[in-house]
Amino acid sequence: SVPAAITSGVSAGARRGLLIKGGAALESIGGVRSVAFDKTGTLTAGHPRVTDVHPVGGTREDVLRLAAAAEAGSSHPLARAVLDAARGLNVPAVTDARALPGRAVTARLSGTEAGVGREVTVSSPGHAAALTDIAQDVQAQVTRLEEQGRTAVLVLLGEQGGQVAPKVCGVIGLRDEPRPDAAPALAALHRLGVRTVMLTGDNTRTAQAIADDLRRAGAPELEVHAALLPEDKLRLIRDLQAHGSVAMIGDGINDAPALAQADVGIAMGGGTDVALETADAALLREQVSGLADLIALSRATMSNIR
Ligand code: ADP
Ligand code: MG
Repeated sequence: SVPAAITSGVSAGARRGLLIKGGAALESIGGVRSVAFDKTGTLTAGHPRVTDVHPVGGTREDVLRLAAAAEAGSSHPLARAVLDAARGLNVPAVTDARALPGRAVTARLSGTEAGVGREVTVSSPGHAAALTDIAQDVQAQVTRLEEQGRTAVLVLLGEQGGQVAPKVCGVIGLRDEPRPDAAPALAALHRLGVRTVMLTGDNTRTAQAIADDLRRAGAPELEVHAALLPEDKLRLIRDLQAHGSVAMIGDGINDAPALAQADVGIAMGGGTDVALETADAALLREQVSGLADLIALSRATMSNIR
């Protein structure tokens, strides 16, 4: 019967670490024409490391301390990397920590620290440019890091009261390696006739450098869409849907709108709760290569029914 075939399909998936939330998801995944991948934490391992710290005026330690203060409450992979790099340093206490998904995190210094009441922000270069002037040498450092496939973030410190534009305290460079199974996963999807697309909030230079790394590791040419905000990811899913059914795979809060819009939303098992709650399926083993298995499983289950 249909329910029995679906149930056995769902449990076959579970044995391989593919959590499928319902029969509808199992049914539709086999028919997708394209798969959109988030970059950070999906095509890459999601364990970036701080590789560079360039202070502007102050010390390297000051840049890391301030950045770690803003990132302390964040679950973003970049936040974990910054906190790692700041281990052992005296990180100031903060209040009012909040995330601007796809752009920045920000918090207010509190406690007895000098600078109490000031806002600390760790931001993408693009968002930072909307908040304050970026000096030419800072921009040059950002460009150089991005050309090396690294993500550059700026550490900003606001003035008390927040009337004046914040000042740039430093640049942090982070590098996140592609997942070892990402290139084979993309190749497997290509063999199944599925179009593959990268959607990332990271900048174009870094995204293209990662796509080039993946191609050298055996992946087909990836379509790269970079510098996307969460709502841009959602819009690109709609564009892809003009050509047929779309699966989106991601891990972050910034991916949730796109996961909800996609015909099948798939969360990385180690991703944020928001991504897991929004998705129709999850890859519990943290391997993107499970995706081609999921499509093959769906196609087999549906052909058993028909
Ligand atoms: P991705 O789509 O690659 O997962 P995001 O959309 O989460 O990336 O973030 C896009 C960009 O916004 C990051 O590359 C970074 O510049 C900035 N950003 C987002 N969240 C943070 C954070 N917690 N700390 C620092 N920068 C952040
Ligand atoms: Mg991500």
